[in-house]
Amino acid sequence: MKKYILILLSIFLFTGCVFSKAPVTNRTQLILISSNQELALGEESFKQTLKDMKVSDNAIETKRVVEIGQKLAKATKRDDFKWEFALVESKEVNAFCLPGGKIVVYTGLLPVAKTDDALATVIAHEIGHAMARHGAERMSVGLVSGVVGVAANVAIANKHPEYLQTFNIAYGLGATYGVMLPYSRMQEYEADEIGIYLMNEVGYDLDEAIVFWEDMAKQSKGKNIPTFASTHPSNQDRIDYLKKVIAKYR
Ligand SMILES: [Zn+2]
Repeated sequence: MKKYILILLSIFLFTGCVFSKAPVTNRTQLILISSNQELALGEESFKQTLKDMKVSDNAIETKRVVEIGQKLAKATKRDDFKWEFALVESKEVNAFCLPGGKIVVYTGLLPVAKTDDALATVIAHEIGHAMARHGAERMSVGLVSGVVGVAANVAIANKHPEYLQTFNIAYGLGATYGVMLPYSRMQEYEADEIGIYLMNEVGYDLDEAIVFWEDMAKQSKGKNIPTFASTHPSNQDRIDYLKKVIAKYR
C-alpha cells in the first residue's frame, strides 16, 4: 500500500501543479497535467481531427463559427490558450473541445443553432470546458482512481484473494458511476456557467441560451438516458440550472 501512496505523491511532485482554481466558479480542481503538456496534446488531436473528419467547405458558416468563437475567446482574456475553431461535416448535433482551446463544431448543429446567440451558446460552453481545463482534470481523476484501484487490488490479493473479482466489478462500476460520471456532469454545469459569463461579456442574448437548450431537448425527445448513467445532465436539469445562472446577471 505504501508503495502506491509514494507513486501518487511522486505524480503530484513531478507535475508541480496539483490544485488549481476553475475560472468563474472558483472551484478547486485536482490537475496533474501541466498546461504545456495539455497544449501539445490539444494541438496534436486537433491536427488529427481535421485529417480524420471532413472540414466544411461552406465558407459563410465557417466564417460565422470562427467569428463567434474569436469574440468569445477574446472575452476569456486568456492569450496563453491557442484558440482555434473549425466546422466539420457531420450529421451529428454536436460540438466538442480539445485541450488548450481547440473547438470543433459539427454541421449537424447548425439547423438547431440558427441564430448567432444560439451558436454562441454552444461555442461558449465548449470554451468553458477548455478554459477550466476539464480534459486534464478528467485524466488526473482517472489516474488517481486507477492508482487507488491497483493499490486496493494488491491489498485484497494478499489477504482475501477470493474477493478480488467481486471487488474489481464493484470498483469498476463505482469508479464509473460514482466518480467519473458525476464528475462529467459537474463539468457540464461548470462549462454552462462559464459559457453564460462569456456570452454576457460579449453581449449575446442570454435568454437565447435557454431557447437553444429547449430546442435541443425537443430534438432529443425520448432519447434522454437517465441522468445517473449519462455524462450529461438531463435537458430539464440543465435548463433549470441555466435559468439560475442567468438570474445572477440580471
Ligand atoms: Zn459539455
